[in-house]
Amino acid sequence: MREKTIFERIVAGELPCNKVLEDNDFLAFHDIHPRAPIHILAIPKKHFKDFQEFDPELMAKMTLFIQKLAVLLGLDKSGYRLISNCGKNSGQEVFHLHFHILGGFELPKDKAEQANPQALF
Ligand code: AMP
Repeated sequence: MREKTIFERIVAGELPCNKVLEDNDFLAFHDIHPRAPIHILAIPKKHFKDFQEFDPELMAKMTLFIQKLAVLLGLDKSGYRLISNCGKNSGQEVFHLHFHILGGFELPKDKAEQANPQALF
């Protein structure tokens, strides 16, 4: 049988988290290694390995949840970055779908954006 991911264990109450917002379908909590003054993870309670496997109907509900979260955190006006690493090449480490919500300062531009794509091949 597949071993539960850290985030499934958090949902099950087996591991603690620093919770920010919760409803029937989703949970949001502080990232344990924050990379911005505000770094929150939003996850569905139901297990999906990554975004590629996610249910579009639940994604619609999750959009509302993240928008509500941004208001709660005071990020709706100042702005934030929303990231979901999907699969091996993205560097995804926890294989339970999650969105990173980063904000609280002017985020640096992603270095990959500045790289010459030709140099990658
Ligand atoms: P990713 O690389 O997109 O899979 O991101 C996984 C994120 O989960 C990383 O930013 C970790 O710092 C974070 N993380 C891992 N374990 C925990 C935990 N127990 N509580 C909160 N965040 C965690």
